[in-house]
Amino acid sequence: MIYQHLLVAVDLTEECDPVIKRAMALAQPTNAKVSLVHIVEPMAMAFGGDVPMDLSQLQQQQFDQAKERMDHLFIKYSDIQRGDSHLTYGQPRQEIHKLAKEQNCDLIVVGSHGRHGLALLLGSTANDVLHGAPCDVLAVRLQKD
Ligand code: AMP
Repeated sequence: MIYQHLLVAVDLTEECDPVIKRAMALAQPTNAKVSLVHIVEPMAMAFGGDVPMDLSQLQQQQFDQAKERMDHLFIKYSDIQRGDSHLTYGQPRQEIHKLAKEQNCDLIVVGSHGRHGLALLLGSTANDVLHGAPCDVLAVRLQKD
């Protein structure tokens, strides 16, 4: 099977480099399209919903910082088209699935820490994305901290 459009989920830490590199290596022989996606989680969601203060300014700062980091990635990986990539608010699993469907992606690429034991209870985005994914998912194994 030849993949035609890879959607790479990036957390915008230095850990996204091996994930992007793996996706680009996969895409290169067939000239497949590679898009990036980063999801900014609403702060109220992170704090469990009810927060008795206005988080809009902080939220905007978080979004601006994410945009800046995405811009650095486009400079570093100039083969990736800025126009095909996405920065949006929401819950990572939901938004990544939605985008993969909308953009007809046939492979989602995520990083995976291979957590086990108690750390598993904290959840992993790779695991989350895998469940109910509308296409194949590649989990790129990341080095342990
Ligand atoms: P985690 O399980 O949260 O440590 O993240 C593992 C992988 O999930 C990362 O390497 C990314 O591929 C993806 N990921 C995590 N957070 C996000 C996010 N906010 N937006 C897009 N992808 C993410």
